[in-house]
Amino acid sequence: MRLRQRCDQFNALHSQISAQGINPYFRPIAKSWGAEVEIGGKRLVMIGSNDYLGFSHDPRVMDASAKAVYQWGTGPGGSRFLSGNMVLHHLLEERLAAFVGKRSAVVHVTGFSTNLGALGVLVMPSDTVLCDRENHASIFEGVKNTKARLSTFAHNDAAHALARVEAIKANRPDNDLFLVTEGVFSMSGELAPLDEIAAVKDAHPDVIFYLDDAHGLGVFGRGGRGSADHFRITDKVDFIMGTFSKSMASIGGFIASDDEDMLRYLRYQSRTQIFSAALPAANTVAVLTCIDILEREPERVDRLHEVTGRMRQAYKSIGLRIGASSSPIIPIIIGSDEKAFQFSQALFEAGVFALPAVYPAVPRGQALIRTAYMSTHQDRQLDFVLEVLDRLAKEFRIRECDIEDEPQ
Ligand code: PMP
Repeated sequence: MRLRQRCDQFNALHSQISAQGINPYFRPIAKSWGAEVEIGGKRLVMIGSNDYLGFSHDPRVMDASAKAVYQWGTGPGGSRFLSGNMVLHHLLEERLAAFVGKRSAVVHVTGFSTNLGALGVLVMPSDTVLCDRENHASIFEGVKNTKARLSTFAHNDAAHALARVEAIKANRPDNDLFLVTEGVFSMSGELAPLDEIAAVKDAHPDVIFYLDDAHGLGVFGRGGRGSADHFRITDKVDFIMGTFSKSMASIGGFIASDDEDMLRYLRYQSRTQIFSAALPAANTVAVLTCIDILEREPERVDRLHEVTGRMRQAYKSIGLRIGASSSPIIPIIIGSDEKAFQFSQALFEAGVFALPAVYPAVPRGQALIRTAYMSTHQDRQLDFVLEVLDRLAKEFRIRECDIEDEPQ
């Protein structure tokens, strides 16, 4: 299809949805207090943010970032390879490596570009990358760019991953095989069975184990050290990737490993590192400050789990279908895309901000509302959200009992 046709087709669909007043995306937030936001003069409780520890509005993080602007300026002025490399970046890399339990780390300017750049260096066209089917788009995009063979295993199914590894190795014994999964899945909120996945690595030590822990960092492990730490399998993971755009109150990403030679190679070869500007000082200092706070106040992570546990329990009592979530991300499974859009709109009108995830972000017919909680949510905000959800769940007939009652 020609570009103009594709564009017209998209815009026709966009106008149709917008005319119904249910387009929930790209809503401009006018003010933010973290757990609450203001949109079009309306105040809403935010239950869609990845700022799990509420650090974006922590006065210590804000002050340190503001000071960094006065000390370093607002922009980096170049890529790290050339003129934008600051001592702050090296300090952050040391702190990150120590935090996640690896020898060395390399920072990139976003999480997405970390996956793109790292996979681009590590993987050759003759290699195979074995991914969990529900891996993030940045991983699939990264693999696509390498032109390597992409193979997948059933979501969170370590036995299937092992079978795939054995079959791939039998066919292609002389090429590298990468096993790539996530710590916490961004839509379902499920924690990966990393102990079982690590057993695949035990059985086949030459497999290169790459873990994207975007949503696990700051959430799982001792004091938020991540999902690998939670399962005590850090030494079995060859590369731990993480982002600063969730718990770390910033943007950016990193890749950590015990293999310092490999990371030097990656630092000098990653195209998204050398051909892209450096992480600005304010963003770098924000992450450093988050690590300082986490090391001093690990109880913040406990509060996050307290909030999350309470909400998960309450969702179940209401009768909401939440899948197998065990993290701050708790999806509300709705079904059709249309109903999910309408439900999100009703939440908005009631004063709650949470957005739908529809196909292709989730399988067809399994549209959901992605809700996520923060350690800084107050009990009165949580009570309010539950009151709204209880009312709307009945109105929209999305409870487990409503589904069972429906004619087959
Ligand atoms: N990996 C995963 C699992 C993600 O969920 C995301 C973002 N949602 C990314 C990578 C990309 O990170 P960033 O938004 O920091 O670029």
